Amino acid sequence: MSAAIIDGKAFAEGLRERVGALAAGFTAKAGRRPGLTVVLVGEDPASAVYVRSKGKATEAAGMKSDTIRLPAETSQAALLDLVGQLNADESVDGILVQLPLPKQIDEQAIIAAIDPNKDVDGFHPVNAGRLATGLQGFVPCTPLGCLMLLKDQLGDLAGKEAVVIGRSNIVGKPMAQLLLGESCTVTIAHSRTRDLPGVVRRADIVVAAVGRPEMIRGDWIKPGAAVIDVGINRIDAGDGKTRLVGDVAFDEAKEVASAITPVPGGVGPMTIAVLLRNTLVAAHRNAGVPLEKSAI
Ligand code: NAD
Repeated sequence: MSAAIIDGKAFAEGLRERVGALAAGFTAKAGRRPGLTVVLVGEDPASAVYVRSKGKATEAAGMKSDTIRLPAETSQAALLDLVGQLNADESVDGILVQLPLPKQIDEQAIIAAIDPNKDVDGFHPVNAGRLATGLQGFVPCTPLGCLMLLKDQLGDLAGKEAVVIGRSNIVGKPMAQLLLGESCTVTIAHSRTRDLPGVVRRADIVVAAVGRPEMIRGDWIKPGAAVIDVGINRIDAGDGKTRLVGDVAFDEAKEVASAITPVPGGVGPMTIAVLLRNTLVAAHRNAGVPLEKSAI
């Protein structure tokens, strides 16, 4: 049996349309557009590409997008000062400081300086704590996107065995918290896990966020499991070109799983769509405009 291929691109487009319609409603009520400010320090080419696509997507959803570009030698004090100004600016609903930052800047100090109610990346320790304790806050975009795809595919997740591979603060840990919040039985596997294939074989839901090309093999997957592949790895395609693959050996796993995300076109497109969703939610909360939870 071949798995259903989860079309993250189509789901993300639908989410962006819903966000766009709700953003128009917000603008009519609040008399201003929801606003996202992205700060880019230095000239990392990959970061520059991400920041440009975030800006375009924000404008396309009818929101106000500002990008502040700072030189690579910017000091931590100067960046903290800028974050303080953005925290105080009522036209700014969401603040995103693009990571990684140059080495003279302590990323955790910058994340901690962002107003948690404008932290649309969900990286602030206060938002991590809110997620862990079931309080309303902001959840990191990639794992929230994964959860949306899973719920769309499977419906109620309660009681399912979920294995998350990877324990980073931006994907693995918040993903595990979200699945726990859906009443899954959650295991977090990582680089020191013994018998990873055996652990993965228990799972009804596998979320792979490792960063190792095609590490998770088809015979690790329990027949009928749902597989969410967060990994984005560029490998040599053999003909002098490169191609993107996930952390899961897709061709093998799709013969065993009931549903699987491809790379590219699975989780990847969800991240920006959820960023727009988080910015929309921030705008409503910051301006005191009600937003139906079921609307988004
Ligand atoms: P990370 O490097 O911070 O974390 C990787 C995790 O994998 C670690 O917790 C580590 O313990 C675990 N790990 C490493 N080797 C392992 C092994 N042999 N067995 C089991 N676990 C192992 O990475 P991250 O930021 O969480 O990202 C993971 C992957 O997801 C990367 O490929 C990244 O590019 C991708 N990613 C995609 C998106 C997106 O789709 N928008 C967003 C974020 C990250």
